[in-house]
Amino acid sequence: MMIVVLKPKSSDEDISKVVHLAKNFGFDVNLSKGSEKTIVGIIGNDVYERRESFEALNCVEKIITVLKPFKLVSREFHPQDTVVDVGGVKIGGGNFEFFAGPCAVESKGQMEMEANFLSRLGVKFLRGGAFKPRTSPYSFQGLGLEGLKIMRKVADKYNMKVISEMMSVEDFGIFEDYVDIVQVGARNMQNFRLLERLGSSTKPIFLKRGFMSTIEEWLLAAEYLFHHGNRRVILCERGIRTFEKYTRNTLDISAVALVKRISHLPVVVDVSHSAGRRDLIHSLSKVAVAVGADGEMVEVHPNPEEALSDGQQSLNFNEFKSTYESSVKLHEMMREFAWI
Ligand code: PEP
Ligand code: MN
Repeated sequence: MMIVVLKPKSSDEDISKVVHLAKNFGFDVNLSKGSEKTIVGIIGNDVYERRESFEALNCVEKIITVLKPFKLVSREFHPQDTVVDVGGVKIGGGNFEFFAGPCAVESKGQMEMEANFLSRLGVKFLRGGAFKPRTSPYSFQGLGLEGLKIMRKVADKYNMKVISEMMSVEDFGIFEDYVDIVQVGARNMQNFRLLERLGSSTKPIFLKRGFMSTIEEWLLAAEYLFHHGNRRVILCERGIRTFEKYTRNTLDISAVALVKRISHLPVVVDVSHSAGRRDLIHSLSKVAVAVGADGEMVEVHPNPEEALSDGQQSLNFNEFKSTYESSVKLHEMMREFAWI
């Protein structure tokens, strides 16, 4: 159902244009003609796909849609929580997983230290960028394929899974070979060719919210993946750009609560890119658990002061340990009280 509102004082000819267009598409029409305004209710399957044809008519003032524009990712379509199984580790459905590691893979030695430390704590997903989307072309761009090879090697050694960001469709072949979860970064959330390619694969996808994207645009990006056949999708809220300057982005915590209601997909909170500063990570981490997120992403570095990217928001090992342990404890407590 879609409601087409005509401009004030539209002529009978205008009204019949709208009605004819609807009938030509095979839709039913419910006409309500007032002295000032006329509205036309258009009923039928897939009416939204024809929205633009109605919008193009001069006499149309606005169109009101009644249903959500996404379907496959909505909870109405699929009431149960989706659980994404990554080699036996389950994301969603009441579990809480950490995706931790450095912003960028810098060396074999660094990743060895990371995996050794994180796996002993119980973290199962090793994050690290090999192809980095840096704002400046002069910043460290990542080790590329070499970075993915390093991650794969150390992850296998410590029985961890690899998650890394893919920026370009051409790289799919190597990501298929080396990573367990493909991350789509905030800057590429609406790279539709990338979404189509990943949608026709079977790899789990970690879809970050664009920093200038609405919740609806984010869910429509996930809908692309589903539409092309891939239902192994994990959403990640990583903060949006606002007028606030004290933080790098603004963590939209209500988006997490809301998306959990309207979609069946797991939602992870990236506390590091949301805050952009180390001193807030511990607090935001507890908030992520409390709001009912399915996990969190945290940047951790053996020596943040020497990190080649995002050192200012990276935790050292001791800091991460304390954040990790309090969040795990909080999650256990919430389970005990049946708050999740
Ligand atoms: C990242 O996770 O390394 C990253 C670049 O994040 P985002 O796409 O959210 O900025
Ligand atoms: Mn980073």
